[in-house]
Amino acid sequence: MTRSKKPTTRTKTTDTKSNHKRPGRPAGAEDLSGLPVAKNEDYTADIVGIGHEGEGVGRVNGYTLFVPGALPGEKVRVKVVKVKKQYGYAKLLEVLEASPDRIDAPCPIYKQCGGCQLQHLSYEAQMRWKRQLVIDNLTRIGKLQVVGEREEGIIVHPTLGMSDPWRYRNKAQVPIGLAETEEGGLVGGFYAQGSHRIIDMEACLIQHENNDAVVGAVKKIARELGIRPYSEETGRGLLRHVIARYGFNTGEIMVVLVTNGRDLPHADELTGLIRRDVPGVTSIVQNINTRETNVIFGDETRTLWGSDVIYDTIGDIRFAISARSFYQVNPVQTEVLYGKALEYAALTGRETVIDAYCGIGTISLFLAQKADQVYGVEIVPEAIEDARANARLNGIRNASFEAGPAEVVIPAWRGKGIAPDVIVVDPPRKGCDPALLETILAMRPERVVYVSCNPSTLARDLRVLEDGGFRTVQVQPVDMFPHTVHVESVAVLVRGEAGEA
Ligand code: SAH
Repeated sequence: MTRSKKPTTRTKTTDTKSNHKRPGRPAGAEDLSGLPVAKNEDYTADIVGIGHEGEGVGRVNGYTLFVPGALPGEKVRVKVVKVKKQYGYAKLLEVLEASPDRIDAPCPIYKQCGGCQLQHLSYEAQMRWKRQLVIDNLTRIGKLQVVGEREEGIIVHPTLGMSDPWRYRNKAQVPIGLAETEEGGLVGGFYAQGSHRIIDMEACLIQHENNDAVVGAVKKIARELGIRPYSEETGRGLLRHVIARYGFNTGEIMVVLVTNGRDLPHADELTGLIRRDVPGVTSIVQNINTRETNVIFGDETRTLWGSDVIYDTIGDIRFAISARSFYQVNPVQTEVLYGKALEYAALTGRETVIDAYCGIGTISLFLAQKADQVYGVEIVPEAIEDARANARLNGIRNASFEAGPAEVVIPAWRGKGIAPDVIVVDPPRKGCDPALLETILAMRPERVVYVSCNPSTLARDLRVLEDGGFRTVQVQPVDMFPHTVHVESVAVLVRGEAGEA
């Protein structure tokens, strides 16, 4: 599943200038002669799809142009900004024929920010597009048959969206920096698209209001106390990130200050002011990150005031969330997603269940209430510690956890005679390891429930399971990240009568 948005992929481009104005074509560069479009020229493009980043995919004389801001079905006027052999990029100049699904993006900083990609598409159309993307991947990559309700084949249900698809995030991770004005000063917000320039932000429409308020209060206090913002350029300054986490169902609030160094001047005054200005705060934590990196957290975390964790609930299960714990960012839809996973697992109370890629045990503990025994495996040891603590917290005794790669741990379980009736997988974007899929086929569970944040690897892996004798019955897309291109879905497979084909 898609985990939070991090600016980790943006790299500095300080060395590109030296490559300019080389005479002739450098060795290995593409031959771009004879293309149907030319750089800096205007064209009319027909938009036929939505690309990975939410951009319109257009055609001009059979050539593909990616056009940010354009929507399928539209005819647009564009200026070509970059050409490659197979495709190019263009800037939207004018929408000549607008899609009926086009709306004005409600967020005033939508274009600069890049955190959301689909705000200019109506929510209803986003839901339709997400379902269609799942179907397209299943048919094209998985070579699977997708059908309507009563025919043979896989049912892909309409996307389960949110009744109010705004203000859904429970975690804000805000980079802090120095304003690029003469006065300087501390700003905190988001990186302007494609750069490392931090733009100050007061409100994010997909963020819970509390998180906006917390970040705003911390920035104000830091300014008052003269806490220096970190500068990526010089590696100097103290405050790097402010993270706000909010327990939707408990109201508990955690503030994390990521600092470039252990020494935090005015620490008592700082926590006192945060407690004064952030009603409901239960945990104030410092994380120390002195490395020159885009990675937000450093290795050392210490609690400045209050509890080390905040609590939240999903269904009947209570979770302890520490500063660095992975926890689903959309708690409302998480409950919908896990509810589907539970329904698809069809548990009666007698089953042995394996939860591969279990994180802090969220799905495992959800399933344990309805199963005989649950085994969870996850590669991050701290997450496994959290999973065990969460099991204890809820008095759940029929769930056990092991740290390690699923593709190594599960074969070892098989060696010990553990025979699951149901296997649940919830892998990262790259999908399941082939060795894990092989083990699933060898273990021959009755059912496999596949929770996926990437329809293309879902489709690839379903093909392998189908070839091994499983049949995909239904797939439910669930909108975990409204207004973004991320598509989450859960699929259920049953073992065919023939066992392995
Ligand atoms: N099911 C959990 C977490 C899913 S995120 C939830 O819903 O909250 C995917 C998880 O897979 C991450 O926690 C990641 O650390 C873990 N992971 C990645 N590669 C893995 C591997 N090879 N074996 C086991 N876990 C892995």
